[in-house]
Amino acid sequence: MTLWLALDIGGTRSRAAAVTNTGAFARRAQAATPLALEAGVELIWRLADDVLAGERPQAVGVSIGGPLDWRNGRVSPLHQPAWRDIPFRDMVAGRFGCPVYLDVDTNIAVAGEYLADPTRPQRLLYLTLSTGMGGGFLVGGRIYRGGDAAHPEVAHQAIPFRCRHPERAVCECGSEGCLEALISGNGIRRIYGVPAEELDPEAWSEVAYNLGQGLRNLTVICAPDVIVLAGSVALGGGAPLLAGALQVLHRNVRIVPIPQVRLSTLGPDSALIGAATVARLGYDPVG
Ligand SMILES: [Zn+2]
Repeated sequence: MTLWLALDIGGTRSRAAAVTNTGAFARRAQAATPLALEAGVELIWRLADDVLAGERPQAVGVSIGGPLDWRNGRVSPLHQPAWRDIPFRDMVAGRFGCPVYLDVDTNIAVAGEYLADPTRPQRLLYLTLSTGMGGGFLVGGRIYRGGDAAHPEVAHQAIPFRCRHPERAVCECGSEGCLEALISGNGIRRIYGVPAEELDPEAWSEVAYNLGQGLRNLTVICAPDVIVLAGSVALGGGAPLLAGALQVLHRNVRIVPIPQVRLSTLGPDSALIGAATVARLGYDPVG
């Protein structure tokens, strides 16, 4: 069987899927991501071997947390402290002997969202709220890149926020006032003492307000056509979270068109589906 390999390496879980020429997953596997580098790499090889079942992939798509240098495929995912400046693209290419498309999870996911949307939005902004928070911006089907290969980190913008324990809002990047510290899974746990799925309605309304302020900034600065929200926190918050955030957006954005804001239709697998898409289509969102 002709197969492609999709890998989604997250701070909490790693996933692999073998993808057929229709885009369907022939087999998939996942496991908790170990903290140690060597154990993490071993796990990824094992998941890949499980789903490939002896077949050689035509190409591999890899989604991993930022930061990374997309020019040389070296990765330093913020939420995997043991992985620093690891030449992971070369390691994957060496292991499987085929083309490898590797990028920040949000860039891979936004490519998957774009290709799954028949309207092909010209300016598509993707935000994910899970362990951490990140974003990817696709303009005319190409990833918007920052200077010197930097990935724009929309999660580390500052906003006017509401928070019952502001002293607990501490960002893992070391800066002050970051949006990620208020609305990511880790941030929520730090502030409210429980995971997002156990938040009370008042805490959710703070999260929605803060998310809305972030969307407001992104809207007035980038003027996107569509904003897609993904990740376990956004999907778990669902329609009420979206409604609360939209209220803030509509109240505060007056001179820029309000974008369509929606939850990801790809569900919790958007990065894995994106990795499958870029591998199978050879679609390289690297600009
Ligand atoms: Zn930060």
